[in-house]
Amino acid sequence: MIIAVDGPAASGKGTIAKALARHYHLPHLDTGLLYRAVAATVERLGLDPTKEADAVAACDFDELTLADPVLRDGEIGKLASVVSAHPLVRAALLRRQKRFAHQEGGAVLDGRDIGTVIAPDADAKLFVKATPTIRARRRHAELRSHGSTQSFDQVLADIRARDERDSTRSAAPLVAAPDAVVLDTSFLSIEASVRKAIDIVEEQRARKAAARA
Ligand code: C5P
Repeated sequence: MIIAVDGPAASGKGTIAKALARHYHLPHLDTGLLYRAVAATVERLGLDPTKEADAVAACDFDELTLADPVLRDGEIGKLASVVSAHPLVRAALLRRQKRFAHQEGGAVLDGRDIGTVIAPDADAKLFVKATPTIRARRRHAELRSHGSTQSFDQVLADIRARDERDSTRSAAPLVAAPDAVVLDTSFLSIEASVRKAIDIVEEQRARKAAARA
């Protein structure tokens, strides 16, 4: 079974995808990490993230980069959203993600274009969202717990800027797949969000099984 979980930054999609992977005993890929690894490599090599050729050169990143805590930085998230807008960067990371999604037994992937581009054939598709203010509140609390002194207003402005860039780019913009079920986590606890996500997957599976029968 392939489960696609898409949504904007700090919507809860990563937490939900991990919980679904645990629940269904499936491997999980946080595809944002791939774009973050490209961004961190661009920075380390002193390349220009706005230049497509520079960003493409960083797609061949060292695998160890994926475990680097620097990938969690807000600045790297911003840079990731810049490099991910280049079509050739997306193309360079496509095969790896498709292979992961279509491995024997299935997988859970979270990102921005899993249900639309990476696995349009996914058995279950969720689009996780929450209001920008609530997402900024979550991200602000998370950053503070890691010692960041960024103000709430700055975090909110960053979230809005990232939403704008991710939604308006021409290559694989952030949109819900037509057959995705939208899960709004704005007023849900983590536990309630995960319970709803499992219900959604079960409903989609049952519907597909009925359609096949
Ligand atoms: O999900 P995360 O915040 O780690 O993603 C960082 C950035 O990578 C996003 O803002 C988005 O621009 C990009 N991304 C993407 N497609 C994905 C996953 C992430 O464009 N499938």
